[in-house]
Amino acid sequence: VPDPEVRLQELVDKIRQRGGRLTPQRVAVLGVLAESKGHPSVEQIYDQIKVDFPTTSLATIYKTVNLLKEMGEVLELGFADDSNRYDGNRPYPHPHLICTRCGEIHDLEVPSLSEIVQQVSQEVGYQIVSHRCDFYGICPKCRGSDSQAELV
Ligand SMILES: [Zn+2]
Ligand SMILES: [Zn+2]
Repeated sequence: VPDPEVRLQELVDKIRQRGGRLTPQRVAVLGVLAESKGHPSVEQIYDQIKVDFPTTSLATIYKTVNLLKEMGEVLELGFADDSNRYDGNRPYPHPHLICTRCGEIHDLEVPSLSEIVQQVSQEVGYQIVSHRCDFYGICPKCRGSDSQAELV
């Protein structure tokens, strides 16, 4: 997993090379996405940015996320009944661990996944361009509050 500070610099450089605007608000959005702690939604990014930049609009966040999407620098995880979530730290398909209770999304290492993708490709004759692998469960934090509730 790339260092968030290194990743932020990379994103700043790439947007600069494209001649994109780099306002302090936008750099702050890039900072949140470079870290992508818990894989935030646009609304969650907005809530974080508002602390330092109260005049930021939701549109600013959407524009920055869409620019990164165009550039292939953010991974979008769409959900049927929830808002999209983003990973700007690792902008390529990778497995995720999703807590169904608090909604936190974490990266997961599944070393054999690339072998599976290769195997599938060989078996069906597709050139696999993307894949999605989500594991759902209840995170330790949420399980912790469970056992506390049981004690009460
Ligand atoms: Zn949880
Ligand atoms: Zn991720």
